[in-house]
Amino acid sequence: MPLIEERHFTEIHALINLWLLKIEGSKFANLMKNKHTVIVAGAGFGGLQAVKSLMKDSDLEIIWIDRTNHHLFQPLLYQIASAVLSPADIAIPARSLTRNRKNVTVIMDEITGISKEKKEVMLSNRTLKYDYLILALGARTGYFGKNEWKQYTSGLKNLNDALQIRRRLLLSFEEAENDPSRAEELLNYVIVGGGPTGVELAGSIAELSRKIIRDDFRNIDTAKSKITLIEAGSDLLPTFDRSLSVYTKEALMKRGVRVMLNTRVKEISKHSLQLMTLEGEKVISANIIIWAAGVEAVPITSELNEKLDRQKRVIVNENCALEDHPEIFVIGDMAAFKTADGKYLPGVSSVAMQQGRYVARTIKREISGKKSRPFEYFEKGNMATIGRKDAVADLRGYKMKGFLGWLAWLFVHLFYQVGFKNKLNILLTWIWSYLTFGAGVRVITDPMNEDKTESKKQHADN
Ligand SMILES: Cc1cc2nc3c(=O)[nH]c(=O)nc-3n(C[C@H](O)[C@H](O)[C@H](O)COP(=O)(O)OP(=O)(O)OC[C@H]3O[C@@H](n4cnc5c(N)ncnc54)[C@H](O)[C@@H]3O)c2cc1C
Repeated sequence: MPLIEERHFTEIHALINLWLLKIEGSKFANLMKNKHTVIVAGAGFGGLQAVKSLMKDSDLEIIWIDRTNHHLFQPLLYQIASAVLSPADIAIPARSLTRNRKNVTVIMDEITGISKEKKEVMLSNRTLKYDYLILALGARTGYFGKNEWKQYTSGLKNLNDALQIRRRLLLSFEEAENDPSRAEELLNYVIVGGGPTGVELAGSIAELSRKIIRDDFRNIDTAKSKITLIEAGSDLLPTFDRSLSVYTKEALMKRGVRVMLNTRVKEISKHSLQLMTLEGEKVISANIIIWAAGVEAVPITSELNEKLDRQKRVIVNENCALEDHPEIFVIGDMAAFKTADGKYLPGVSSVAMQQGRYVARTIKREISGKKSRPFEYFEKGNMATIGRKDAVADLRGYKMKGFLGWLAWLFVHLFYQVGFKNKLNILLTWIWSYLTFGAGVRVITDPMNEDKTESKKQHADN
């Protein structure tokens, strides 16, 4: 008689299955099922594309982590800041994007560290293991080492920043209405940085104050607001074709924006900026200072013990991976990828999206034993709005400006918006506000918090 009968095999098999089911989700279960765990860090442009591409493969277990619960369409943040759109129009919860994919687990938590050797990602109170790691944690507002300027300025990098700017702008109008003798001091806005973000903010604040809210006030003329845009270089939109930069400058000036080129900020204090212009030093005052002059990679890049570029981005190889850890990919604003002509790719959404899709493909190729191919970037072009029905677009040699540029901008920004509901909401809001100069989102929440009380206190002190 055999030592183990056939029925024993069946029982043992059933027991193993039960045991595997119990520990479903653990690394061991994944290994037994030959599954690989991919951690995608960041729900921005890069992370989203990577997850969308990876989740189609049910043999992969994907863990998607972000400190927020949403993917954010940053190019339209300025429309939140200038009270055109609501936060929900440009953000979409990560969970809703992956709800039908059981192989994706979404975690809302802060990534506090990474152990390359142990292949672990540290969260606020737990540690997760990975086979592959995609780091797409983006950038934060950078002050060129002058971090003390942060306290006097508002950056524009996330929803909180945009809502803070919106709140401060709307409060400045209310305070001026209550005390018209201070209107000149209060309605005085300075934006530092003449790239797309600075241009779009300057244009939209001009539109808000000169057109949209002008009839809402009785004691002040909001059209008299002073809006200054400061740029260190000799042109606005320095990465665009020069003819478009010149057009942009003129278009903004027509809207009443004071454009200061060749002007470097030397010092910033509470309500003033010390500037170095071609004519010499100058001090200007401002009620609200918006910093749109630079970004730097998130601080975690410094802890990776890898080579960084000047913006603290991780220098990656031709596969968007770390040279000594090919299972770790770094993409988007966090990465410094050198192209064949020796230049690093810019921190724009199309780079992050293409890299996200590329690393997902590379992981799948590696798992199936195929050789990976180097990343190649397909440059699509640049665009920026100046105001209503006015934008510039530089699309692979095709230059558009004015209404045509604006139509191109509108199409692209709707096309890349995630989720049909958001696309529709934005389109309807734009049609409404562009046709009527209509209401927008001008509700001030928590009006009595420190911004206002401090401003009142300061006035009382004077
Ligand atoms: C105001 C503004 C306007 C812009 N306009 C344009 C434009 O018109 N065209 C264009 O191409 N690009 C534009 N950009 C740039 C573009 O948005 C970025 O290049 C793009 O978002 C980079 O994608 P990413 O995936 O690398 O990072 P992000 O999209 O920034 O995503 C990073 C994610 O990581 C999360 N995160 C960060 N740190 C942690 C942590 N420690 N733990 C957990 N989660 C974390 C963040 O919450 C975020 O969701 C603009 C950017 C800004 C700020």
